[in-house]
Amino acid sequence: MKKLITEIIKFNEERDWGKFHSPENLAKSISIEAGELLECFQWNNEYDIEEVKKELADVINYSLLLAEKLEVDPEEIVLNKMKETAKKYPIEKAKGKCTKYNKL
Ligand SMILES: [Mg+2]
Repeated sequence: MKKLITEIIKFNEERDWGKFHSPENLAKSISIEAGELLECFQWNNEYDIEEVKKELADVINYSLLLAEKLEVDPEEIVLNKMKETAKKYPIEKAKGKCTKYNKL
C-alpha cells in the first residue's frame, strides 16, 4: 500500500497537480469517478471489465490521495470502520442477509 501511495504522489508531483488536490476537490473527484464506475453497469448486466478496472482505479487513486491529504492511514481507517461495522452487523444476526443493521 505504501509503495502505491508513493507512486501516486510522485505521479502528481511530477505534474504539479498537488495544488488542485484540496480535500473538497478530491472528495468531488471520488464521487465523479464513482459515477463513471456506475456508468459501466448502466442499462444492462453486461460490462466491459477493462473499463470497470479503469474507473475503479480512478476511485482508489483519488481515495488514497484524499487519505494522504488528510494525513490518515487508509489501512487503519478501513480496519477501524470494519470493526465498527462488525458491531452493527454481528455474524449471528447478519450472516447471509442484506438487511440494514437497525432492522436486524
Ligand atoms: Mg474515470
